[in-house]
Amino acid sequence: MQGECEGRRIQILGTVQGVGFRPWVFRLACEHGVAGIVRNDDRGVTIEAFGPRPSLESFLRSLADQPPIAARIHDLRSQSIPPEPHDGFAIVESGSGAERRVSIPPDLAVCGDCLAEVFDPSNRRYRYPFTNCTACGPRFTIARDIPYDRPATTMAAFRMCPACRLEYEDAADRRFHAQPNACPACGPHLRALGAGGEPLATSDPVTRAAQALIDGRIVALKGIGGFHLACDATSSSALAMLRERKRRDEKPFAVMVRDVAQAERVARLSEEERRLLTSVERPIVLLERRRASGLAPEVAPDNPLVGLLLPYSPLHHLLLADVGRPLVMTSGNLSEEPIAYRDAEALERLNGIADLFLVHDREIETPCDDSVARFVAGSPVVFRRSRGYVPRPLPVARPFARPVLAVGGQLKNAFCIGLGEAAHLGPHVGDLDGLTTYRSFEQAIARLERFLRVRPEVVAHDLHPDYASTRYALGRDAVRTVGVQHHHAHVASAMAEHGLVGPVIGVAFDGTGYGTDGTSWGGEILLARDDGFERLATTRAIRLAGGDAAIRGVWRIALALLEDTYEGDPPLGVLPLFDSIPAAQLDVVRQMLARRMLAPPAHGIGRYFDGIGALVLARPVSRFEGQVALQWNLVADPLETAAYPYQIHRGERPMVLDLRLLVRAVVEDVAAGRPASTISGRFHNTLAAATADLVRQALSQVGRLPVVLTGGCFQNALLAERVRARLVPQCDVYLHGEVPPGDGGLALGQAMVADAITREE
Ligand code: ZN
Ligand code: ZN
Ligand code: FE
Repeated sequence: MQGECEGRRIQILGTVQGVGFRPWVFRLACEHGVAGIVRNDDRGVTIEAFGPRPSLESFLRSLADQPPIAARIHDLRSQSIPPEPHDGFAIVESGSGAERRVSIPPDLAVCGDCLAEVFDPSNRRYRYPFTNCTACGPRFTIARDIPYDRPATTMAAFRMCPACRLEYEDAADRRFHAQPNACPACGPHLRALGAGGEPLATSDPVTRAAQALIDGRIVALKGIGGFHLACDATSSSALAMLRERKRRDEKPFAVMVRDVAQAERVARLSEEERRLLTSVERPIVLLERRRASGLAPEVAPDNPLVGLLLPYSPLHHLLLADVGRPLVMTSGNLSEEPIAYRDAEALERLNGIADLFLVHDREIETPCDDSVARFVAGSPVVFRRSRGYVPRPLPVARPFARPVLAVGGQLKNAFCIGLGEAAHLGPHVGDLDGLTTYRSFEQAIARLERFLRVRPEVVAHDLHPDYASTRYALGRDAVRTVGVQHHHAHVASAMAEHGLVGPVIGVAFDGTGYGTDGTSWGGEILLARDDGFERLATTRAIRLAGGDAAIRGVWRIALALLEDTYEGDPPLGVLPLFDSIPAAQLDVVRQMLARRMLAPPAHGIGRYFDGIGALVLARPVSRFEGQVALQWNLVADPLETAAYPYQIHRGERPMVLDLRLLVRAVVEDVAAGRPASTISGRFHNTLAAATADLVRQALSQVGRLPVVLTGGCFQNALLAERVRARLVPQCDVYLHGEVPPGDGGLALGQAMVADAITREE
C-alpha cells in the first residue's frame, strides 16, 4: 500500500476564503480516502494530498466539479510532489501575512441548511435571525480589517457559547471557522422600536413588525448592508404613504418575494432569470411584470418591468413568511441620500418615515446597497454592482504596474482599486452631489485601502473639472494623477471585463460625459487602446437650453431637436407636448436656442431618448434622472420592424450621425396618430441600424477588431439586442456582464487606462 502512495500539491486561485472552502475540501478528502492538509495562503488555497493514484484523481475531479456555492475558482493547478506520511487530513492555520492579497468575501445569502434550522422548532436556532455558517452569512459588511477573522469583525463583541465554540472548532462542522457564528444564547438580538425610537415590549419583534406591515405601516429594518424601508407591496395606500414620506415621486421600488413561486406569480421568469434571482449574490432582478401581478400599481408607475429579489438573510425569510405577501424593500434613506446603516443614524434620518424600527446589535461596518441586474441579449448584466458582488476581485489580463485608485464619476459613483492581478470595484456610493454621500465616498475609499493594505500611487479621475470625485482625486497626494476621458473609460471597462487588450471599436452611448474639447459627449464610436483613443464618430449635438434644467425639463430637449430639424420653424401646433408649456417659457427657451445662449451642445444618445421620448409621450418633465428616456425605451413594440431614415456625414472627422430625418419622420408619425409603441420601435430600429452602419464604417477604416458596447444606454435591452443582432456574426461583439455598463463601471476603465499610461514612466 505504501508503495502506491503518491502526492499532489494543488493550488486554487479565486474567491475561496471565507466561503466554506476548507471544510468542504476536508470532507471531500475524507470521502475519497485522501490524507494531507489544506491551508489558506496569500493567493487562495493550497492543498497537499497523499494517497493512491485513483483516489487522488477522483478527489481532484470533485474539487473542480462542485465547489461551494459562493466560491469562484479562477485557476486550479496540480503538480506531483513526493509522498509524505500523514494520519488523515487536516486543516492547517494560515501563517501570518497570509491572506494579504485575498480580499474579504462578499456577503452571502443564507444557505438551505441554515434556513432549515431557522424554521425547525426543535433546533436551538429556531427563528434566530442571525444564523449563518461557512457557506453563508454576512462578510464584507461586518469586516473591520483583514485578515477576515472574528476579532476583526463587528462580531468581536460577542463571545461564543460552548455549543457555538464546539462547532467553530470542529473541522468537520459546517460552522468550522464561520466567523459570524452565533446562536440565541450568545449572539446578537433584534429589538422593535416605535416611530420615536422608544422600545416596544414584545417577545417576538419579527411578529410585531409583520403585524405592522399587514396593517399597512412602514417598517425600517436593519438588514445586511443597511436599513431597508419595507411596506406591503399589494397596498396602494401603504405605497402612497411611503412615496410621500420618502419624497420619492415615481421611481420604481424593488419588491422582495418570499420564494420563486411567489416571484412567478408577479413576473415572467426564464430559466436563466430564475437562476440569477436565486444566485448567492441575490441581486434585484428586473423582470417583465405580469398584468395580474397582484402588486399595487404604485410600486412602479407606468413601468412594464418590476425589480424582484428573494430574501437573503434569515430575518427576511422570517418576515416574509409571517407577512405572506410581497414587500417593497427600498433603501432606508431620503431620495438621493446614502443608505442608513447605523441604528442611531437610522432613527434620526428615517424619523417621520418609519412607523416601526427593527434594529439589532450586530453592527454594519460598511454600508452596501442591493445590487441590480437584468438579462440583456441573453446574458445577465449587472446595472448596480454592490452587495453580494463587492469586494470580489475582478481578474485583469495584465497586472497593474503600480497600485491605482480610480475615483469614478459623479452619479452612481463606485470607485476602483487596481492592485496586482486584480481590480477591486468598491460598493455603490451613489450621487456625489450631497455632502453625506461625499463623506461616505471618502470613507469607503479609506476602508478598501485599509482592507487591501495599499497606498495607491496613481490616482485616476474623470476629465470633468466639477465632479466631486475629480476634486477629491486632485486633492490626494499621489505620485501621479491621470485624467481619463469618460467614454474612453467606459470602453476600457468593457475591455477589462473581457480581457481585451485592444485596439477595439468602442461604442459608448450614454447621457453625458466630458469630452476632450470641453463639450458633453455620449454618442461616440472610439478606436480605443488601453492608453489612448481616436474619436471616429459622434452624434450630432443637441443644445441643452438652460444646461441641467434640460435634463429634468426634457421638453427643452424636444424643442431643441425641433428647432434644429426645422431650422427655426418647428410645427409645435401638431405636438401635444407643448400644450402644457406656458407660452412665455416656450419663448424664453426658443430665444436661448436661437442665440445659443446658455445652451451648451451635447452629443449624448441619452439626450435623444429624453427629447424624442418627451415629444411622443407628451411628457415634459423627468421626475427622476432618466425617467422619460426609460419610459421611451420600455414603451417600444419589439415586433415593430420598420425604421426611419438617418444620415451619416462621412466626410467629417469625426464622422457625424445626423438624426434630423428621424425627427421629421417621428413628427409625421405623431401627427398621423401612430401609437407611441410603434414610433419607439421604429426609433430603436433606426438607432440600431445607424450604430451598426457607423461600426462598419469604422471597421472598414481600421480592419477587423472586436466591438464593445458600453455606456448607460446599453442597459436598454432592446437597443443592445438590436445592435448586436445587426453586427453578429460578422463582428465579435462584447457587452458588459458583471461590470455595469453605466457610470457604476466607469472606475474600472479609469484604472486600466491610468495604469497603461503611467506604466512606462
Ligand atoms: Zn449556512
Ligand atoms: Zn451560541
Ligand atoms: Fe457615462
